[in-house]
Amino acid sequence: MASVTQQMEHSEFTNPNLEVLFSADQIAARVAELGTEISAQYVDKDLVLVGVLKGSSVFHADLMRVIDLPITIDFMAVSSYKDGTKSTGDVEILKDLSNPIRDKHVIVVEDIVDTGLTLTRLLEILGSRGAASIRLASLLDKPEPRIKKELKIDYTGFVIPNKFVVGYGLDAAGRYRNLPFIGVVKDPSKA
Ligand code: 5GP
Repeated sequence: MASVTQQMEHSEFTNPNLEVLFSADQIAARVAELGTEISAQYVDKDLVLVGVLKGSSVFHADLMRVIDLPITIDFMAVSSYKDGTKSTGDVEILKDLSNPIRDKHVIVVEDIVDTGLTLTRLLEILGSRGAASIRLASLLDKPEPRIKKELKIDYTGFVIPNKFVVGYGLDAAGRYRNLPFIGVVKDPSKA
């Protein structure tokens, strides 16, 4: 078994190659505010909180627990095709919703909106299914690279600069999703 010292040396949470952008406490405080806002706006409405896997899994799990209403949850998984590191807007549904959304009020929960191409396509797909309303919650909004300027984010956690971020569900090649904070990788060659 690894000693405490060995564990500290290999700690992902204190990885010196990561610069903290938002601490776990800052995120929790902001998510609680979003929960209060949503709770006030969806009283007596049949709300389903749709998480887009995998990136929004942590935000989705925290957000649902600060919404003080009788809601349901569902998930989708999509793969957005990239040209280098940028979205092309081609979206394939890898996992569809488990239940119909007809006549329900939907909030799509995303980790981050960058160009906006993935979500625009996803909202088009969901828009044809007869929901009573569809709104969008994104933990992070990176407006600078936005191509789909008309995309409206109804509930935004934080607006961030055009930097590649990880943690709190967001990955770099599958890693870092488990970080309790959101950070920037200082040297990607060492990531
Ligand atoms: P968009 O179609 O808006 O350009 O891309 C959105 C998706 O790209 C997000 O759901 C996320 O998977 C990925 N993405 C965009 N920016 C970042 C970032 O800074 N960090 C990480 N980890 N993923 C990002």
